[in-house]
Amino acid sequence: MTFNEKIVNVRELKHVEGKIELYWIYTSGEAGDKFFKALKDEGKFLASKCSYCGKTYFPPRIYCEYDFSETEFIEISGEGRVRAFAVATLDSYEKPLENPEIYAIIDLDDTDGCIVHLLGEVEIKEVFIGMRVKPVLKPKEDREGRITDILYFKPS
Ligand SMILES: [Zn+2]
Repeated sequence: MTFNEKIVNVRELKHVEGKIELYWIYTSGEAGDKFFKALKDEGKFLASKCSYCGKTYFPPRIYCEYDFSETEFIEISGEGRVRAFAVATLDSYEKPLENPEIYAIIDLDDTDGCIVHLLGEVEIKEVFIGMRVKPVLKPKEDREGRITDILYFKPS
């Protein structure tokens, strides 16, 4: 059975053991493309601001989701505050991590948006809701135009 098959008889359903390989292609779209290029080439963070209502999108959007007005790209600092965080002690294969990782939802300054990313250069016991953080990027020559160009966020 492949995942392209349509099942019309529930008796044909089967239990699958182990992991299921999935493949997908992600396109970041026009606004995402501009964001990743600015991050890669200039180390800048871009958001977009609605020309009508002023809502500021991060990640950037080319139009406002509320009033369908066009937006304009604006540069933001990339700094923000931790809204929530979690500590990962297992990797994606469920093997214990030598060094637990801290993932956080970070509300970015001057936007109505957020980013989910790693925290670094901080001990777990030092992290708190509302903590100010700033991004740490890969060296320019190592950037690929991906979200992993941001290594982590650290306390600021
Ligand atoms: Zn708007």
